[in-house]
Amino acid sequence: MDHPPASEPTPPRADAAHGPLTLRGVAASRGLALGPALRFARRTSSAAVSSTTAPSASAPAEQQRRAREALASAAAELRALAEQVTQRAGAEQAEIFEAQAMMLEDPTILDRIDELIAGQRLSAEAAVAQASEEQAQELAALPDPLWQARAADVRDAAGRALNALAPAHARQQTLAEALAAQAGPVIVLAADLAPSDTASAPPERLLGIALAQGGTTSHAAILARALGIPAVVGLGPTLLSDVADGDTLALDGGAGQVIARPDAATQAALRQAQSSAQAGQAQEQARLVVWLNRAGATRDGAPIPIMANASSLAEARAAAAMGAEGIGLLRTEFLFASSDTLPDAETQARLYAEIIAACDPPRGPITIRTLDAGADKPLPSLSAFTSQLPAEANPALGVRGVRLQLRFTELLHTQLEGIALAAAQTETTIHVMLPMVTTVDEIEAARQALAEAQDRVAARGLTPRHIALGIMIETPAATLTAATLARHVAFFSVGANDLAQYVMASDRLHPDLAALRAPTQPAVLRAIQQAAQAGAARHIPVAVCGEMAGEPALAALLVGLGVTELSMAPNRIPIVKEALASYRLADLRAVAERAANAETVADANRILADLTPLADGFSGA
Ligand code: PEP
Ligand code: MG
Repeated sequence: MDHPPASEPTPPRADAAHGPLTLRGVAASRGLALGPALRFARRTSSAAVSSTTAPSASAPAEQQRRAREALASAAAELRALAEQVTQRAGAEQAEIFEAQAMMLEDPTILDRIDELIAGQRLSAEAAVAQASEEQAQELAALPDPLWQARAADVRDAAGRALNALAPAHARQQTLAEALAAQAGPVIVLAADLAPSDTASAPPERLLGIALAQGGTTSHAAILARALGIPAVVGLGPTLLSDVADGDTLALDGGAGQVIARPDAATQAALRQAQSSAQAGQAQEQARLVVWLNRAGATRDGAPIPIMANASSLAEARAAAAMGAEGIGLLRTEFLFASSDTLPDAETQARLYAEIIAACDPPRGPITIRTLDAGADKPLPSLSAFTSQLPAEANPALGVRGVRLQLRFTELLHTQLEGIALAAAQTETTIHVMLPMVTTVDEIEAARQALAEAQDRVAARGLTPRHIALGIMIETPAATLTAATLARHVAFFSVGANDLAQYVMASDRLHPDLAALRAPTQPAVLRAIQQAAQAGAARHIPVAVCGEMAGEPALAALLVGLGVTELSMAPNRIPIVKEALASYRLADLRAVAERAANAETVADANRILADLTPLADGFSGA
């Protein structure tokens, strides 16, 4: 299949080996696939505009009109795609397309395009390409990989608008069109894939995805997982140089391996594995449906509420659909990710109210975490404040989390007023949770600010409702003084992601030190146990909301350590409920005690592997 020359991957080398070639990459989406390769080049704004960057001869007003029409038509396409994806994969997965549509309607980019056309007499194409590229580069320069990934989203959305501007013969083929032109289903091979390409591809024509670039948190990987398409990413340049269109590929998404031109025996083994895996998956989905409406509990009936982590309205909806017993962590910093400045209290209250309404009828509290900005989560809308701070050599140890809001108290006052306003207008129980706490003083300062926010709500003629104040346990200081901190708060929630980083002194973003941050590091387990014991002594709930809570075996281990609630990505809820119901609390406690006292991670893992689920795992809760 031919693609537009400007963005086509380099053709395979003439001397490429014709025998089997095994490539190892990153396991991005579980599943097996066997089929012919289709090389695909993603749409890029620079490629689409390559022949049209010359200044325009026609009137600026005409070019401005063309640019606006193209952006509006691309935004409409993206909204239609969001609708389709909501049906196929759920609202959470569709959110990226809604966000891309908003990027194209953002007044900042529209104004910049008008300015480039009027001032530099650029064509509509060149102005759209330049304005979007400027925005993408700003995002790409941010240190957080999550923000950097937004650069690709801007480029993808702009590419769509440029496609709308191109004459019919020069339009770039989408992945869906390329797939439609094939005789049968294929495995797509590319440098990278735009989220819109992945999501709009008809699944019956897309057997698998093999990408030279990317990691597990790229949007292509996230969407492939959500859509159930086997995928391996980060396979390196050999994928593009040594695999030709039509070569057979055997792809194992769970193992992160692709074999190009596999021999007959490998193909037969993969087909066999494929049919048993398919049967297993269908069974798993059917089996898990029953857990949506059950409450989390161990086999012997100890209740363990299973709540959801959410960072958007779509995730709050997914939480409700997956049977979450409340929101255990609302990451508010992500709600304001695309704002220029932090919204005022009323706007924040409206956002919180929408999220609260999405969880109606409430099955548990909504835990709103105050802004956890800084370090790996820079927030552009706070730049007016953060620019006043001195440069930090170690941002993870710097003015982040609750420290930032106590340094610039107006941020805390505004957010707490927004939360108090929303709480005054709902029956749902609202919790406020502080991130990155290290001292009692931080808690007491925030408590004072919460009381003042409640007074301002009362002064507006509303009746403030009680809001429980709790903290994240994510620092060694918080675990060492947990017994003291427990006297000052209504609940704990262990942020195991950061706790592992700080306990093990291993930067959360450092790829080479990932093994040190293993959740079963005895030091991490003991820190969690210490927090759980301190909470139990004061009869306050102790949740875990780090990633480990969503892994069934680790969730069971956490319960054994004394954790009383778990909060996780919405789609992990049913499988974790099922797992907990297959263990007795006493057995979990015994195993957790041994694991926490293990000498090494390997020993702790072996101890955990001894934990055998009881048959017929329904507790009847
Ligand atoms: C954590 O640190 O475990 C946590 C849940 O918070 P975040 O991942 O948002 O830092
Ligand atoms: Mg954290």
